[in-house]
Amino acid sequence: MTYKNIPRQSLGFFPTPVVELTKLAEALDGPRILMKRDDNTGLAFGGNKTRKLEFILGDALAHGADTIISAGAAQSNHCRQTAAAAASLQLECHLILGGKEPDVMSGNLLLDRILGAHIHWGGKNRKGEDIPQIVEELKKSGKKPYIVPYGGSNELGALSFVEALKELDLQLQNLNESLTHIVFASSSGGTQAGLMLGKKCLNAAFQIVGINIDKDETGKIPFNQFILSLANDTAEFIGSHYRFSEEDLILDSSYVGEGYGVVGHLENEAISLTAQTEGILLDPVYTGRAMGGLFDLIRSGKIAKTDSVLFWHTGGTPALFAYSE
Ligand SMILES: *Cc1c(COP(=O)(O)O)cnc(C)c1O
Repeated sequence: MTYKNIPRQSLGFFPTPVVELTKLAEALDGPRILMKRDDNTGLAFGGNKTRKLEFILGDALAHGADTIISAGAAQSNHCRQTAAAAASLQLECHLILGGKEPDVMSGNLLLDRILGAHIHWGGKNRKGEDIPQIVEELKKSGKKPYIVPYGGSNELGALSFVEALKELDLQLQNLNESLTHIVFASSSGGTQAGLMLGKKCLNAAFQIVGINIDKDETGKIPFNQFILSLANDTAEFIGSHYRFSEEDLILDSSYVGEGYGVVGHLENEAISLTAQTEGILLDPVYTGRAMGGLFDLIRSGKIAKTDSVLFWHTGGTPALFAYSE
């Protein structure tokens, strides 16, 4: 495959572990539950963006960039991992965060500051709307800026999840495990697009079930269409003939609740039960919501006791310290 020539900058510890959650499965009276521990990628508290950044910052370095720019919510895990990766490569990092500067810095935002990122407050804009203006200013001051897209969700970011699924496939072979479902939090689409393409490449039978986290549909195109076109663009990018349409996509939007980052009973129950049965921490915005979704899929019988599920822990735990009451 042509993509072997795409530069990749090592940033994390891979493969991440796969563990079985026997006590959680018992508490739910549910199916076998495995977990892929991408909360342990090793880059400043870890998370799924570490994988994406290996390819995206590999590209930035190949382009001779000296400054990285990205955007997200104030508690963005993507921005925190970008700040850490940039620091480790001695690149200047600018983050445009939604909202306004809080009185107290906590969670991911505190880490952004410790990691030395330059923080710009974007008000209502948390998806990079203000990036072009800051790029112009940086260019004028003689910098070579490189934009990391929202959530790291472009072809390079998605490609990292094709690779991640191959990594998992080898682990499952060694464990002699086979799955019926992979369940995870889906928000900017790169993880899901990559897993969908990886599934085709491996000719795997399990379902790729994205739990939608973000109710906000202010993106230029609807989220499901975005995931499909990113999967198609990524396939094209790596020279694969696979193409995707609506029937290839499972995106469950039943659990968006009151919207992005609004934590309720669903998330709190998932976080507490996972912590108290397995000693594993989830996060309030993404994995807590996705695990709450998985609980519901199990309790409602949509995922049966005879199934075998892998929950992909995509990280995010620093946000726990920003959502405590
Ligand atoms: C970004 C993120 C996701 C969603 O991944 P996307 O590729 O953006 O859809 C899920 N969980 C956590 C903790 C994240 O930070």
